[in-house]
Amino acid sequence: MDLVRESVAFFDDLQQRVDIGLRHQGYLFVARTDDGALSQRNLVAAQRTWGLTDVELLDRSEAGRRFPYLAPDIVNARFRQGDGWLEPRRLALELARASGARIETGVTVTGFRIDGDRARGVATTSGAVHADNVVIAAGPLSGPVAKLAGLDLPLATVRRQKLILPDVPQVPAGAPMTIEFETGAHWRPAGGGAHALWTAPAPAGPPLDDVPTTAEFAFGLLNPASDHALARIVPFWKEVWASSRLQWWLQAGQYTYTPDRRPLLGPTRIPGLAVNTGYSGHGIMGSIGGSRRAVDAITGKLSPADNPFRPDRPMEIRAFDVL
Ligand SMILES: Cc1cc2nc3c(=O)[nH]c(=O)nc-3n(C[C@H](O)[C@H](O)[C@H](O)COP(=O)(O)OP(=O)(O)OC[C@H]3O[C@@H](n4cnc5c(N)ncnc54)[C@H](O)[C@@H]3O)c2cc1C
Repeated sequence: MDLVRESVAFFDDLQQRVDIGLRHQGYLFVARTDDGALSQRNLVAAQRTWGLTDVELLDRSEAGRRFPYLAPDIVNARFRQGDGWLEPRRLALELARASGARIETGVTVTGFRIDGDRARGVATTSGAVHADNVVIAAGPLSGPVAKLAGLDLPLATVRRQKLILPDVPQVPAGAPMTIEFETGAHWRPAGGGAHALWTAPAPAGPPLDDVPTTAEFAFGLLNPASDHALARIVPFWKEVWASSRLQWWLQAGQYTYTPDRRPLLGPTRIPGLAVNTGYSGHGIMGSIGGSRRAVDAITGKLSPADNPFRPDRPMEIRAFDVL
C-alpha cells in the first residue's frame, strides 16, 4: 500500500508538468449477488478503519443514478473517485528522459561479471558493461537472468491478457474502471473505446519474451453467455457483442509473482548484485515507491532489517489478487 501511495503522489505531481495520461476517473466495484454485496459492505468498513475514508458504498438505486449504464439487478457498488489509471508507455519514456541516464535498447544481458564474490558488471550482446552495482529488473525474465549469476529467485510467471477495443461508442468517456466484484472482470474507457481484462487464477508457465494471445480470452469477456461476461453488470456490452462494428485486438504479457505477492527489492547474497522485480501484477502502481526502496536498500539508506521487501525474507504464501 505504501509503495502505491508514494507512486500515486509522484504521478500526480508529474502529471502537472507532463501528460502521462493520468486520469482519476475512479474504480467502481459492482456486486450482483447478496454474498458479494455483504463482502463489499464489510470491506468498506475495514477500509475506513485503515484510514481510507473516501470509499463510497452505494446501494442499487444510488449506483444506478450515478452510473446509468449499470444493470438494474446489481445489488450494491463500491466507488472511490481517487483511483485511476495512466499510460505506462508515456510514464516510462518520461522517466527515462528525466533520469538523464544513457540507455541502450536492443541489447541483451547474457551473463554477469563476478570478481571474487562481487558482481562487477554484465556481459551483453554488444560487449561488456562494467558497474559497481548491477540491478536485475527484467520483469518476467528476471528469474532466468538471475540464474546466469547462480541466483534462484522465488518467482512464478503467469500469462495475463488485455482486450483492446478501439471503437465502442457505447462506452462513456468519463466512466470509471468498472469491475464485477464477483469475477474481477473489468473495463475502462480508452481512446474511443475500452480496455478490458480478467485475471482469474491461471497456471504458472515458463517466462517468455513473446507471450501468445488466445481468442478465448476475448470471447470470455465479450460473449454475454460467458460466466465472466462484461455484460453481466453492464448491459450495453450485449449490444457491443452483436454489433457489426465490433473490432478488437489482444495483448499478452506475464505477471511475475512472488509467493507473498510483494516485490523483491534490494541487494542479493552476491555483493554488488541487487533486484527490483516480482511486482506480482502491480508493477506500474508500485513502480516509483518500489524502485526508490530498491535504491535506498542498495545505497544503505534502508537497512535489511527495515526492508520488508528484501529478497531473502521469509515469505508466507498469499492468494492471487483479482486486479
Ligand atoms: C495484461 C497486463 C496488465 C497489467 N495491468 C497492470 C495494471 O493495471 N497496473 C499495474 O500496476 N501493473 C499492471 N501490470 C503489471 C505491470 O505491467 C508489470 O508489473 C510491470 O511492467 C513490471 O515492470 P518491470 O520494469 O519490473 O518489468 P518489465 O516492464 O517487464 O520490463 C523488463 C524489461 O527487461 C527487459 N529484459 C528482459 N530480459 C533481458 C535481458 N536478458 N537483457 C536485457 N533486457 C532484458 C525486457 O525486454 C523489458 O524491457 C499488467 C501486466 C499485464 C501483462
